Amino acid sequence: MRKLIVGNWKMNGTSRDLPEIAAIAAAARRHASVDSALCLPATLMDRARQTVGDFAIGGQDCHISDAGAHTGCVSAAMLSDAGAVLAIIGHSERRAAQHEQDSDVRAKAKAARAAGLKVIICIGETLEQREMGEALKVVLGQLQMSLPDAVTGDWLSVAYEPVWAIGTGRVAEVSDVLDMHGAIRAALADRFGDEGFKVRILYGGSMNGDNAVQLLTVPNVDGGLIGGASLTAAKFEPILSAAAALSK
Ligand code: PEP
Repeated sequence: MRKLIVGNWKMNGTSRDLPEIAAIAAAARRHASVDSALCLPATLMDRARQTVGDFAIGGQDCHISDAGAHTGCVSAAMLSDAGAVLAIIGHSERRAAQHEQDSDVRAKAKAARAAGLKVIICIGETLEQREMGEALKVVLGQLQMSLPDAVTGDWLSVAYEPVWAIGTGRVAEVSDVLDMHGAIRAALADRFGDEGFKVRILYGGSMNGDNAVQLLTVPNVDGGLIGGASLTAAKFEPILSAAAALSK
């Protein structure tokens, strides 16, 4: 399976950053054996699209409806219209700050798929849940409740992102990543049969150029979702390079 490396710019980026986005797209082109994308604020997407050629641009959330009286929201159809080809759904920052539930994540993933977008569903436990020994139960519960009814092809990815590893510089132990990704794969296979093996499982949480090889070598780690280290080409390219080395 080809590795998938996706950057998440969160609420960062204005028109001043378009040259950096172009530099990231150029870096991605140098590592063509890796699938890669950058998920940007919706306000930047259209201008970024004009800068990056065929490099994939994505959104970070979408509404469950195509259009309507939802002040401040952006639909999957709008993301697609602005040039997005994928969307991150259910990021833990949204689950925490916007109180998104698994049922919302499931509905948003369905809306994104209906608009022709690829989808990354995020799941992950808090530090408190891990310390109470509940990590596996929480993550598999989120997975089961957030997944769509059916999957065919490679439109869906799942990102395992331990909440305590996001933006903290603290990375999950390799043994924990191995166990969690193995359990997620088993659950996907149980639910979707052979199609479950086509779903890429990404690791997210302080991945950078120094730890990428170690994380991306773990069985069932099919790529990464990267926040901080995706903000510059200088930090993102080493991760692309690590993934490309493993793809040879
Ligand atoms: C994320 O926000 O999905 C993420 C993984 O962030 P970071 O790489 O900064 O930990």
